[in-house]
Amino acid sequence: MKLYNSLTRQKEDFKTYEEGKVRMYTCGPTVYHFAHIGNLRSYIMEDVLEKYLVYSGYDVNRVMNITDVGHLSSDADTGEDKMLKGAKREKKTVMEIAKFYTDAFFADCDKLNIKIPNTVQPATGCIPEFIEMVEGLIEKDFAYIAGGNVYFDTSKLKEYYVFNNHDAEDLAVGVREGVEEDTNKRNKTDFVLWFTKSKFDDQELKWDSPWGIGYPGWHIECSAISMKYLGDRLDLHCGGIDNAFPHHTNEIAQSEAYIGHPWCTHWFHVLHLNTSGGKMSKSKGEFLTVSLLEEKGYNPIVYRFFCLQSHYRKSLVFSWDSLDNAAQAYDKLIKKISTFEKEGEVDMAVVEEYRAKFNEVMGNDLNTSLGITAIYDVVKAKTNGATKRFLLDDYDRVLSLDLLKAADSVKEEKEETNEEDAYILEMIAKRAEAKKAKNYAEADRIRNELAAKGITLKDSSQGTTYTKA
Ligand code: AMP
Ligand code: ZN
Repeated sequence: MKLYNSLTRQKEDFKTYEEGKVRMYTCGPTVYHFAHIGNLRSYIMEDVLEKYLVYSGYDVNRVMNITDVGHLSSDADTGEDKMLKGAKREKKTVMEIAKFYTDAFFADCDKLNIKIPNTVQPATGCIPEFIEMVEGLIEKDFAYIAGGNVYFDTSKLKEYYVFNNHDAEDLAVGVREGVEEDTNKRNKTDFVLWFTKSKFDDQELKWDSPWGIGYPGWHIECSAISMKYLGDRLDLHCGGIDNAFPHHTNEIAQSEAYIGHPWCTHWFHVLHLNTSGGKMSKSKGEFLTVSLLEEKGYNPIVYRFFCLQSHYRKSLVFSWDSLDNAAQAYDKLIKKISTFEKEGEVDMAVVEEYRAKFNEVMGNDLNTSLGITAIYDVVKAKTNGATKRFLLDDYDRVLSLDLLKAADSVKEEKEETNEEDAYILEMIAKRAEAKKAKNYAEADRIRNELAAKGITLKDSSQGTTYTKA
């Protein structure tokens, strides 16, 4: 497949180190609050990427971390630890909120048909691995100790800014207004690998280390966790675009310094979901969650459908109107699919022809919006229902939109309604007969029996009509 690579800034043929195998790493959530639907846009697109690679015949080994320590509110080394902030807000321990929001994240993924990667590793479970890596970096002279903390020395690298042409704004990370500059750093872009002396005396989780009691920086966790499970040759690393700098830039710096050769060949970044008011972010406190969508009566899969309608490399603006449009389009599509006959022989020639079209668009930088168009092409195709259903099921191995499942339940509902309507009409006819025979007791009994089921009869000169509760 062709996939855009943030590292080379171009669409490339996706290649793996070992043939047929993909080692894939995803930056997991910081579990101090619910995931917002912006975070979940990233996870939906990464899920489609993983599923498309599997669909294309790759064996994918995917690892994700859970950030439960070390992620400071600035994304750099300033501000409060996000986990501590969450714990204080809820008057709970850090581990309690980590457990709660990790479970909530998995529940959201489940509702959105996002497959959980085969390995999920909380950062707090890998402290010895982080310490080992920091020790290695000190040995190789890529890290130094200052003011009790261990820092990565970015001046030792040939190239630090790997993703894009950074501007003054990026350079200002860590020296924002109202935030004290860390005078221990030799270079502005240096970052903390291990904190011992920090301004957070109340930091809840601390571990012993060769540099004193403390806790890891955020970036080290992804490098160490990825290497623990996937080795030192990574094929694919994913995350939202905000992770590119400083997080992924720092991951690359420390990983390559540690292993002494290039680390990850392909970087996949999902652009942000924004609201009309700007970027959605957890730290702002006000954000949209899957539960909120459900409370408002939306099927979470409609949100997935909405996300797939646009390309991952374009930012996406969320509005209730556009979600409504997606809901209407999805319902209409599902109703249409529910009319396809299951019986009949699948025409494999048609299947191959349409599969090739699907591969053409999905294999071209994961164009999910044309992937959705491919669904409509199948719906309109001149072939039997069984072939259409076969193809839709096939595409849904990647898109996970519940196409057949939802269509079958619509069909079942329709059949149940038809059965119920036939029963009511039969009862109305029986009641009319009873009335004709002046058997008013029987006519009333029938009326009452229907009333008990929430069905109200209304007699008029034109006959009897009914309404359902
Ligand atoms: P966090 O829980 O903050 O560590 O972020 C989890 C994931 O969501 C990361 O891959 C982020 O890059 C991504 N992310 C954060 N905000 C957004 C957004 N508004 N739209 C899409 N992805 C986002
Ligand atoms: Zn990460």
